[in-house]
Amino acid sequence: MANDPVKSLKIEAGNKVRLRSFDTDDTFGWHKESALAELEQVKVQLEVVQQRLFGEEQRSLLLVLQAMDAAGKDGTIRSIFSGMNPAGVVVSNFGVPSEEESAHDYLWRAHAHTPAKGRIGVFNRSYYEDLLVVRVKGFAPRPVWSKRFEHINAFEQMLVDEGTTVVKIFLNVSKEVQRQRLQERLDDPEKRWKFRKGDLDDRKLWPDYTRAYEDVLSRTSRADAPWYVVPADHNWVRNLVVAKVLLHHLERMKPRLPESEPGLEGLVVE
Ligand code: ADP
Repeated sequence: MANDPVKSLKIEAGNKVRLRSFDTDDTFGWHKESALAELEQVKVQLEVVQQRLFGEEQRSLLLVLQAMDAAGKDGTIRSIFSGMNPAGVVVSNFGVPSEEESAHDYLWRAHAHTPAKGRIGVFNRSYYEDLLVVRVKGFAPRPVWSKRFEHINAFEQMLVDEGTTVVKIFLNVSKEVQRQRLQERLDDPEKRWKFRKGDLDDRKLWPDYTRAYEDVLSRTSRADAPWYVVPADHNWVRNLVVAKVLLHHLERMKPRLPESEPGLEGLVVE
């Protein structure tokens, strides 16, 4: 494929990322209708390979989703995982740490939710917040957060070494589309519950978040645990790209169903 987003959106290890060089409204020359149809096909393929991973019960996959507010983390998860075997998918949300969580190191709560063998774990936000909101809002001083790039690289390497495929996705939304979506949340009573006044504070800190994200993407993308920067201004593009990235990594794992007992073929149940 000429413009394969799975290849073109991957951050190679050691690359210095500048987010302004990534289009937030890229469509890869796709058309909405055919992209929606393709998503359905990709989802069928995802279901098959997920079922194998689940049956094999030897390895796992961790999908980390990070984004500014209203980029569509929840919508992406709903769209992509809706057809899968729910027993094999565990979604974990990471919000403001509880008292108990704050009393531990920042990886403690994340580690408790890494996926078991056979499972896909989805992190809706993650330990990367400890290099993002924590840095931008000054919740920890630089000497503390700046060591976390290395901790996280080592933590993810450990997960990889122990059989977890780690895939990380940054949903890249533009400031203008975020404005529209936040306004929509305010105006629509069905969506208003999602709006927090704090979202506006974060929006004001957009340049600081951009810098923090650029450092994360530049310093924690590695061959074994890559970041993808996914254009998120169009939901239908975002969903298809994330589904393709996930399928690529699941297929590369080549999960195999366990051998059935010998002598079953041709057996008739009476
Ligand atoms: P979301 O915005 O992902 O839909 P919430 O509305 O529950 O979910 O927001 C989660 C909030 O928790 C975000 O504002 C995020 O910045 C914050 N958060 C996540 N992790 C941390 C952390 N380690 N320290 C402080 N705040 C955090």
